[in-house]
Amino acid sequence: MSPEEFRQEAHRLVDWMADYMQNVSQYPVLAQVAPGSIKKQLPDSAPVLGESFEKIFKDFEKIILPGMTHWQSPTFMAYFPANNSCPSILAEMLMATMGAQCMSWLTSPAATELEERVLDWLRDAKGLPNSWKGVIQDTASSATLSAILSARERHSAFAINQHGFTGEHRYRIYSSEHVHSSIDKGVKIAGIGQSNIVKVAVDEAFAMIPSALEKAIQDDLAAGFTPLCVVTAIGTTSSTAIDPIDAIGDICLKYKVWHHIDAAYAGTALLLPEYRWMIKGIEKADSYVFNPHKWMFTNFDCTAYYVKDTQTLINTFSMTPEYLKTQQDDEVNNYRDWHIQLGRRFRALKLWFVIRSYGISGIQEKLREHMQLAQWLYEKLDEHPQFELLAPMPLNTICFRYLPASGDIDTANERLMQKINDSGKAFLSHTKLNGAFTIRIVIAQTNVKKTDVEMVWQLIQEAAYSQH
Ligand SMILES: *Cc1c(COP(=O)(O)O)cnc(C)c1O
Repeated sequence: MSPEEFRQEAHRLVDWMADYMQNVSQYPVLAQVAPGSIKKQLPDSAPVLGESFEKIFKDFEKIILPGMTHWQSPTFMAYFPANNSCPSILAEMLMATMGAQCMSWLTSPAATELEERVLDWLRDAKGLPNSWKGVIQDTASSATLSAILSARERHSAFAINQHGFTGEHRYRIYSSEHVHSSIDKGVKIAGIGQSNIVKVAVDEAFAMIPSALEKAIQDDLAAGFTPLCVVTAIGTTSSTAIDPIDAIGDICLKYKVWHHIDAAYAGTALLLPEYRWMIKGIEKADSYVFNPHKWMFTNFDCTAYYVKDTQTLINTFSMTPEYLKTQQDDEVNNYRDWHIQLGRRFRALKLWFVIRSYGISGIQEKLREHMQLAQWLYEKLDEHPQFELLAPMPLNTICFRYLPASGDIDTANERLMQKINDSGKAFLSHTKLNGAFTIRIVIAQTNVKKTDVEMVWQLIQEAAYSQH
């Protein structure tokens, strides 16, 4: 493809992209395809001769598009969102065009320096401790693994990095049973062993009970284990429960345990001063992660990971073979030493575009709108005798179920959710709370409006009543 052909195709694509954004709610939110049906339409082997872009794009529309779930649809209310926005997409286009690999300061100084700047902006706008430093990683899963590895290396004085596990310590990690599965995964990968995660009891709002944590630590010490790290959640995955990080922070300090805070989804809410209570006492913690790629209108992937002590992070990961040494190494930040992989994309550009386009106040306005819309639906469900709320709603994730007049409640709710998802009009997901099948609705999509929430409320009622 020549640059001239590229220009023409790109102009056409931009028109397609703008149309897609305008019309996204006309597609079925959840892809309505059977397993294997997309693959069946693709040839067994790669083309030997090059094909025209026109032909490729036709197949994209015909084969690929029907197999897409439309995460940017305003009635995508499943899981947590992976929001994009126009300024973020524009930045992705520029990033792809320059195709820079920003592993070191030298390999694109602007990428490093912009990243330092925008992460400081976000840190301050969210009220995080102003001595902390941040790095952009791919996902919260990687950031949490980084935290667990840093905890391990701080405790062993970097000996496990050098010599591997010698069996001196039997490490333990603590979290509530409601934290994200990435914590278990990180513990597995870090060599600590999944059986060494202690799931601490929660209260009626699904938040960790500090006294239960302290008891678990004491029991482990008595049994010869070494408490290593506590992972708390600001916004658990099931119900966005808020662990009391202030009290837990005191316990972590007392027993010299690393405290990592996973605020992957809910962390964006800290841009609103009225939600800062969630991080009271954060200065006692060691690390904190949140995902602008969820609720901050920045294309997946973009995770902001903040640490109190950058040297521990860098000592855990740095690796400087001769061919990566540069003359500036003493004066600059080489972000490759702040995470697991070497290569890195220029993700700071999209954060910069998003923050500047919306302004902090523009983002705040969206967040408040989402909270209000969620509150409206929460009240509707609360008032209705045939629906039951199954968790408090500190932010904008609603956990509820339908109470049928007769028959099995879980089955009725599974059917209700399936019916809505099969309709293609909205996409909801579920969890289990106290053993009960729980439907979750997250009102946080970039462009969600009151009419979308009203429509979903209508769908829920119709799907419930149609069961009789
Ligand atoms: C989404 C989520 C994660 C995982 O995020 P990735 O960036 O996909 O790894 C972890 N923890 C919580 C609380 C989450 O909501």
